[in-house]
Amino acid sequence: NKFKEGLAKTRNQFTSKVNDLVAKYRKVDEDFFEELEEILLQADVGFETVVELMDSLRFEVKRKNIKDTTGIQSVISEKLVEIYEAGDENMTELNLEEEALSVILFVGVNGVGKTTTIGKLAHRLKGEGKKVMLAAGDTFRAGAIDQLQVWGDRVGVEVIKQAEGSDPAAVMYDAIRAAKTRGVDVLICDTAGRLQNKVNLMNELEKIHRVISREIPNAPHEVLLALDATTGQNALVQAQTFKEVTNVTGIVLTKLDGTAKGGIVLAIRNKLHIPVKFVGLGEKMDDLQPFDAEKYVYGLFA
Ligand code: GDP
Repeated sequence: NKFKEGLAKTRNQFTSKVNDLVAKYRKVDEDFFEELEEILLQADVGFETVVELMDSLRFEVKRKNIKDTTGIQSVISEKLVEIYEAGDENMTELNLEEEALSVILFVGVNGVGKTTTIGKLAHRLKGEGKKVMLAAGDTFRAGAIDQLQVWGDRVGVEVIKQAEGSDPAAVMYDAIRAAKTRGVDVLICDTAGRLQNKVNLMNELEKIHRVISREIPNAPHEVLLALDATTGQNALVQAQTFKEVTNVTGIVLTKLDGTAKGGIVLAIRNKLHIPVKFVGLGEKMDDLQPFDAEKYVYGLFA
């Protein structure tokens, strides 16, 4: 069970703290709630989400007339899933065409695991029988094109690229043409994630969007933002900024295996209302999983 394995760090800290708390208090009272709140905050669940969770937990405890802490974990799990799933269905499905070329645009700052994620996703889609192609749209960062090529070779998919410094929109144009000619199902496009200059980033992404949607009216079908779970609340700030410059349709939360603060998934969902579509649970090709709130929450308490 990849989820359980990948969440080991978070589970070890969070769950053992909750279990200790349950043993310590036995009775569900204000002191218990307060300490639970602190544990959730330490796991990076985020202030607003914690407040919402505590409210619904208090309500449930009253409604069900729960007096002692035995089994309170399952009530907490239920409420966590409820908060995550509020309002949406089919959140993790990628919105791809059945018969025609689909385009996925990847955004995110350097170092978050964007290239790795593109490689993993290409591998995953290929495994589903799809013909996949990559577009090396990060023409800015030295080495980004080669790094994408390494993943292309590893996974066995073609990479469309130009020289470093060339216009990313031109790379996209080439890639779409090539993808159409070769009967590709999914084209995954890398982009440069330079948040330092918001206006430049916005202009660049707008131009890329323009070129892509001129060739394929519904495209890009997905704009996926890669965020590094180990950066905690910083990831949230990045997400907010990207949300301002482009229409992010989903988040890939990388390196969830590398943090004990896995609660960030809930914070992202609750604060930004953008679904987490995939999570990265390791460095290997297979370590990308569609996010599943139930598996995640129950993985924490398993
Ligand atoms: P980029 O600059 O955003 O393209 O980042 P890279 O794809 O080069 O990844 C940066 C580092 O993070 C590399 O060492 C990756 O192996 C590592 N990495 C990426 N995703 C994950 C993940 O889900 N788990 C772990 N543990 N490491 C990851």
